[in-house]
Amino acid sequence: MSWETSSKTQPRVVKLLKNSIKKQRLAHAYIFEGAQGTGKMAVGIALAKTFLCRNAEDGNPCENCTNCKRITSGNHPDVHIISPEGQSIKIDQIRGLQKEFAYSGMESSKKVYIVEHADKMTVQAANSLLKFLEEPGSDTIAILLTEQVHSLLDTIRSRAQTLSFSPLAPEGILQKLLEEEIPKPIAALASSLTSDYAEALEICREEWFAQARAKVIQLTEELRLRPDYCLVVLQDQYLSFFKEKEQLRLALNLLLIWYRDLLSIHLSQSEKVVFFDQLQALEQQALQTSQKKAGEALQAILTAQARLRSNVSPLMVMEQLVLRLREG
Ligand SMILES: [Zn+2]
Repeated sequence: MSWETSSKTQPRVVKLLKNSIKKQRLAHAYIFEGAQGTGKMAVGIALAKTFLCRNAEDGNPCENCTNCKRITSGNHPDVHIISPEGQSIKIDQIRGLQKEFAYSGMESSKKVYIVEHADKMTVQAANSLLKFLEEPGSDTIAILLTEQVHSLLDTIRSRAQTLSFSPLAPEGILQKLLEEEIPKPIAALASSLTSDYAEALEICREEWFAQARAKVIQLTEELRLRPDYCLVVLQDQYLSFFKEKEQLRLALNLLLIWYRDLLSIHLSQSEKVVFFDQLQALEQQALQTSQKKAGEALQAILTAQARLRSNVSPLMVMEQLVLRLREG
């Protein structure tokens, strides 16, 4: 249970830690570094649990002993989590931790502390933590989590083992978005737009994004069914909706994904289709648009993106693109 999800997204880190547990070669301090959403805290908790579990076997916690249960419910007296208070982690927070640790553990001397956003420690807090790391603590593990490993003091970095968490693959991001109860068509699209989970989640939570998606689907429908009216529709409905350049850039990205999907249909790889709930429309379009034309459409969208970047007027870029796509 504890390692399961993480071992799918961070197999290398999980394997290394479990091996260290089995060989009883855990370090006294770790730095888990990687982007937001890569599962650093989940791995930290799993490590704490395995370390403190009374019946750990083969690098796995039992999930049933009091230690496991208390860690799962977040109230184990020997597992401490420190997070920034406001903008930073302050020296008093580190001092508080040291005070707690001055007493011996509840049942053994084993203790774990996790410092979330460790790069947000003030210099005083970091120096105070440093002294703590230097004490030959018996059975204590420090786990520092950070998205900005280079902002940590060198002296801290040199005393800890750094483990890098890999960015999530699109499937990993999709999975996590679904866990947040984002509707699948939206989640699938967002996870193919960015490899940054936090950004993907933010995109999904904007109502505008779902509307933009619907607009782009509608545009492809117009192109297919009423090509003669496309330019009118473009001016009436689209340019007023995709007002900012950034919004237009996103619209082009969505269009790019649509035509990539069209190519996937041609290549009989419908499992790769991102607009999976539009399979029927895509298949219809594939009947009308040859594989070669679909490839040309992709090229035309890339050209439009480049022209938008070089400050050609959005209206002109979009009109020319629509004319090109209509030919397909
Ligand atoms: Zn246990």
